[in-house]
Amino acid sequence: MKICSTVKEVREQVNAWKKEGLTIGFVPTMGYLHEGHRSLMEAARKNNDKVVVSIFVNPMQFGPTEDLESYPRDLEKDAKVCEGVGVDLIFHPEPEEMYTEGFCSYVDMNGLTTELCGRTRPTHFRGVQTVVLKLFNIVKPDNAYFGQKDAQQLAVIKRMVTDLNVDITITGCPIVREEDGLAKSSRNTYLNADERKAALILSKSLAIGKELIEKGETDAAKVKKAISDNIETEPLAKIDYVDVVDFATITPVDTIKGETLVAIAVYIGKTRLIDNFIIG
Ligand code: AMP
Repeated sequence: MKICSTVKEVREQVNAWKKEGLTIGFVPTMGYLHEGHRSLMEAARKNNDKVVVSIFVNPMQFGPTEDLESYPRDLEKDAKVCEGVGVDLIFHPEPEEMYTEGFCSYVDMNGLTTELCGRTRPTHFRGVQTVVLKLFNIVKPDNAYFGQKDAQQLAVIKRMVTDLNVDITITGCPIVREEDGLAKSSRNTYLNADERKAALILSKSLAIGKELIEKGETDAAKVKKAISDNIETEPLAKIDYVDVVDFATITPVDTIKGETLVAIAVYIGKTRLIDNFIIG
């Protein structure tokens, strides 16, 4: 397995693979890899000749008061995880390699990015789209894999690829959870023991909403209320949002029909966690 820190090295390797007619699967990450990331890498491994993983804590997608500095990093451990899955190349650039002097071009979107996480993180998706398109242009994969854990991000990337005619197939992969239901996240490491217990309120409350819908409830307001009421029983939890939106367009719906995303963001202490389910 190669670890590359420059665009030039990645391009040389990718071009050599392309000359041989090999297919490339790509998994963009911010590192501190866990089984959620691993499931994406395994999907890539299964369906492509070569697998590239990027590990880059992208400054552009963090707001000024967010956790860019404290975001967990461990390249050595990450490299072992990648090696275990049979990854061929890790791209681990420094921010200066990605954002060279004079950088001033961005990818942006009207719609899809204004609701849910876009409300509290207004510049987040512009940072995500910009870095993902840059990574796509560097790695030139045939297939790229994203987790449903970040469902809005998945919808945004699918839309971007369609709108900008990016010739890459995007595959969404299911949420990987801890045994007790907490969605795996690099940010779970911020939780102390009490907060870790309290964090279960996210998956438990979503389960209540899901059950309601499965029993036939189609009124989005009632589902939102049931989820919010349950989250509010947890003293350490503070709701950022509880929303029901159309998955493709990320616009709020009143009536649940078609592919619908039920998504929540909740502060547990100072840590902001997200979780969701998609129905239909
Ligand atoms: P991150 O390193 O947090 O930027 O995540 C990189 C990729 O891994 C994104 O496509 C995430 O949606 C995905 N991912 C993160 N956590 C999980 C999880 N628990 N299950 C599935 N995919 C995940």
